[in-house]
Parts: sequence; structure tokens; C-alpha cells
Amino acid sequence: MAKPRTPPERSGFQCAQCGQWHDELLTDIACGLPDAVFALGYLERYRRARFNPDFCTLDETRHFIRCVLPVPFTHRDDYFGWGVWVEVDRATHDLCVQIFDTEGAAAVPPQHGVLANDLKAYRKTAGLPVRIELSDEHRPLVYLLPASRHALALEQRRGIDGQRHHALAAPYL
Ligand SMILES: [Zn+2]
Repeated sequence: MAKPRTPPERSGFQCAQCGQWHDELLTDIACGLPDAVFALGYLERYRRARFNPDFCTLDETRHFIRCVLPVPFTHRDDYFGWGVWVEVDRATHDLCVQIFDTEGAAAVPPQHGVLANDLKAYRKTAGLPVRIELSDEHRPLVYLLPASRHALALEQRRGIDGQRHHALAAPYL
């Protein structure tokens, strides 16, 4: 008897939002550098900035840390993570460097900073103040302040549904 043929594997899914076949929708979008550093030309950036995937210093006076700004999904138990840079003062920067490889983050009180990236899905987000929660498990998480009426703050508090997730991820499909 002939061996039954298994159907070819097809990765991804047929999208309930647009009917197209997609690979998994992104659940995070990362900013490679703080906008102020990204905006520099190739040589200027080399002269003035130093950075790795978690920390960035510009002109030895401006300090940035890489964080995740979570926006919870309302349709599943997960969140959309914006990989953002947050500008912090020297003390917070030094503290984050100091505890980076240790198990001390959970004991550190929340820190404060301002978003250093404009997210294209929203009107101006750079400069919005955030609370920073450090963790031993993952990158620092940031939260817009409770009083903020910015669309990103509202979505972070209320969550986003599948349709909104699709709209955010579609440009990256
Ligand atoms: Zn779709």
C-alpha cells in the first residue's frame, strides 16, 4: 500500500483581518538607536556617540538605555513590545550599567526618563516622560505616566485588539 502523502507544510496563517496569508505578525518593533543619534551622519555618529544594544552615550553628556514599552493585547495573553530608547540622567544610566550583570534590579525603585524615539504609528512620542521598571529577567519595561492623554499612553493602559495589532505590524510584513 502506498504510503499516504502528507500535505506540504505551510508556515504562517490566513489572516482574519485581511484574508492574506502571512507569516506570524510581529509582536515587537525595535528602534536601532535613539533618534538624536540616528540623525547624525556616518562620521558624526562615529565621532560623538558610543553604543551597544543596551546603552548609548552622546557627546559624553546625554545618556540612553534600551527599554521595552509593552502594549497589552486584549485578544490574547501577550503584549506588543516597542523596543525604544529612553533618555535618562547620568545617575540612572550608571545605575543600569552597574546592575546589568547582577541580580540586583528587582530591589531598585522605578527610575524616570523620556522616550528618545518617535514611533511612526503615533504623533510625536519622543520626549514623553516614562517610568522605568528594571528587571533581572529582561530589558527594563517603561510605562507612560497615568496622567498622559497621548494615544500611545491610552493604548498602553487599555490594550490593543487584533485589528490594531494588524495595523501596527502590517508595514513590516
Ligand atoms: Zn493580514
